[in-house]
Amino acid sequence: MIEEQLRAIRERITASASRAGRDPDGIRLLAVTKTQPRSVVDEARRAGITIFGENRVQEAAAKYGDIAGSVELHLIGHLQRNKARMVPGLFSWVDSIDSLATAQALSRRCEAGGCGCAVLLQYNSTGEASKSGYQEESILLEEAERIAGLAALRVRGVMTIGPFVSDAAKIASAFARTRALYERLQKQLGEARIDTLSMGMTDDFEIAIAEGSTEIRVGSALFGARA
Ligand SMILES: *Cc1c(COP(=O)(O)O)cnc(C)c1O
Repeated sequence: MIEEQLRAIRERITASASRAGRDPDGIRLLAVTKTQPRSVVDEARRAGITIFGENRVQEAAAKYGDIAGSVELHLIGHLQRNKARMVPGLFSWVDSIDSLATAQALSRRCEAGGCGCAVLLQYNSTGEASKSGYQEESILLEEAERIAGLAALRVRGVMTIGPFVSDAAKIASAFARTRALYERLQKQLGEARIDTLSMGMTDDFEIAIAEGSTEIRVGSALFGARA
């Protein structure tokens, strides 16, 4: 079942990459397993998926605690500062950094745990107050510089969640804004370091690929609708 869905998604990735004149290998698929049981993770791994995403630290710890070393697990939901201690040894990426203070806390915890962590800065590309992430580009760029200087963290790029609307042009314009910001960050910190633009989910990943996404985060198209 997951195997079939995975094949269909890979075909859609390849098709949208080729429409955009891009190499499909430049787009990584992150499987979002929030609310799904461990058995789904196991089936996904058997189907060949190696990159996973979870929204909540505690749920991830329960589900991935014993296999964290053998998958690449990304935190894609908001990180509360007091949960930073649970990241080392569980998540190798935090895709949702939205403040310097949280990044500092995370870096301290990772240093103490003897491991590094890759991070993306989350950009609120829709301006909706209900969404987390930096609303001001200038603040994101300024803090990125300081976060890049933290001992245990490697800034790798930008993440955004597109607007939940059906108007494809609106979605595309949010992604285009995010890509422009990503390119500014590349200029600022160096293209060799800044290599990840995470945008696109089940309903909008093809638009995101057209706009330059290098990492799509897919849940329901792989595993079915969440309860
Ligand atoms: C849930 C979630 C996803 C996956 O959503 P689907 O629409 O099920 O593909 C991707 N990114 C984030 C940040 C999420 O919270």
